[in-house]
Amino acid sequence: MNLIYLIKDSIVKWRYYIIGILILGLITAIIASNLIDNKKYKSLVITWETPIFLNSTGGTLGVKQEDGSWKKKIVNSIGNATKEQKVTKVHRIREQRVLVTLDDDRKGWIDLPFLWPSDSGKIEARLITDIKFEDIKAEPTKYSNQSVKYDSKRANKRFKRNSNIEVTAWYTDKESYEKNLTAYPSYTWAYIVINEETKGWVPLKHIRLYGQMTDSAVASIWLPIRWISELLGDGFFAGLFVLLLYGIPILIAFLLARFLSEIMKFLPNFILFVIISAIVVPTYFAVFTSVFDASSYNQNSGLLMFLFVLLTGSVTLGGLSGIFQEIRESRCPKCKEWEGGAYQRDHLGTTTTTKTTTTTYSDGRKDITSNKDVVEDWKDYCKCYNCGYTWTLYRKERK
Ligand SMILES: [Zn+2]
Repeated sequence: MNLIYLIKDSIVKWRYYIIGILILGLITAIIASNLIDNKKYKSLVITWETPIFLNSTGGTLGVKQEDGSWKKKIVNSIGNATKEQKVTKVHRIREQRVLVTLDDDRKGWIDLPFLWPSDSGKIEARLITDIKFEDIKAEPTKYSNQSVKYDSKRANKRFKRNSNIEVTAWYTDKESYEKNLTAYPSYTWAYIVINEETKGWVPLKHIRLYGQMTDSAVASIWLPIRWISELLGDGFFAGLFVLLLYGIPILIAFLLARFLSEIMKFLPNFILFVIISAIVVPTYFAVFTSVFDASSYNQNSGLLMFLFVLLTGSVTLGGLSGIFQEIRESRCPKCKEWEGGAYQRDHLGTTTTTKTTTTTYSDGRKDITSNKDVVEDWKDYCKCYNCGYTWTLYRKERK
C-alpha cells in the first residue's frame, strides 16, 4: 500500500516532466513518421494511367447514370499520373495507397498496385504471417496451382513471419478497379521473391511493406510500438511488453484527473469522472488500431484480433473503475483536494449466487456445471486530511 502511494505521489510530483517527455516523444515520432526509408523503394514507376488522390482513402463518388445504374466518379484528385512516370520519393504508405512525389513534382496518393519497381529497382517487404509452398501461387488467384513444383519432402516447410521478401509486380482485378476506382485488398496480389527458386503470387494480406500502416493508425504510436516489437523479436515477449505499455493511457488519464481537478476545483467528483471517461474511451479506440497494427498480435488471424479487442475492453473498463474508486475515495467532496483516504472499511455482507447449467446429451448422459458468483458489499469511511470532512462510500467487490 505504501509503495503504491509512493508511486502515485511521485507521478503527481513529476507530472510536468512526464508530460514534457511525452510531448517531446510525440514530436519526435511525428517527424519520424514522415521519414520512410526510400532505399526500400528504389525506382518506382507508374504502370497504368491512374488518378492522383488528395487523401489516403476515398476520393470517389457514386453517380447515377441515365440508365439507372451507378458509376464511380473521381472527386478528390489533382489529375492523372501517366504510364511510365517515375516516382522520386515515397512519403507514406497507408493501407493500399502511397503518398508519393512524381518526377513532375506533383505530390499525392496513388493506389499501390500501380506502383511497380522498374527493371533495376525493387520493393523490399516482409511476410506478416507464416506461409507454406502451397500459399505461393503460379497465378494471382486462389484456385491456381502452387508456383514451386510439389515435393512431399518439403511440403510442410514454412516461411516465417517477418522473413524478408521482394515484390516485383502487383496484380489487381482491372474490371473491379475500373468500376470502383478502389484497389480492394481482396483482389490485389503481390508477386514475391523469397529466394532464387521460391517466387510466385500471394494475396496482399500476407505481406507488409516497410512503413505500411493501417489507415487509422496514429504514426506517433505505431512507430514506437513497431520499433519495440522488432527489438524484442516480434513474438511472445514483444506482445507481453506491448500489454504492459497498454496501461499508459490510463496512467495519463489519472494524471489528467488530478490536473483538471486542480484547475477546476468546482467540478463535482462525478462530473470529473465523466470527463475522464469521455477522454479515455475514445483514446483507447484511437490507440487500439495503431497498437494492434504495429504489434506482434497482427498476424492476419481472427482469433488474435478477437483477443486483442477483449483485452482493450478489459484494460479500459478496469482502468476506469480504478480511477472512479480513487476519485471517490481520495478527492474530498467538500474542499476538492486529493487529501482523502479510507480510515475504516466495514464488510457488510456477501451475496453468493449459484448458476447451474444442465446439458443433456443425445445418449441420455447429463452434464451439470455450476458457476458461483460471489459479491461482497463494503462500506468505506473516508476522511479528508485537509479540511477534516468525513464521508462514507458503498461499493461492491466481485470475488
Ligand atoms: Zn477536504
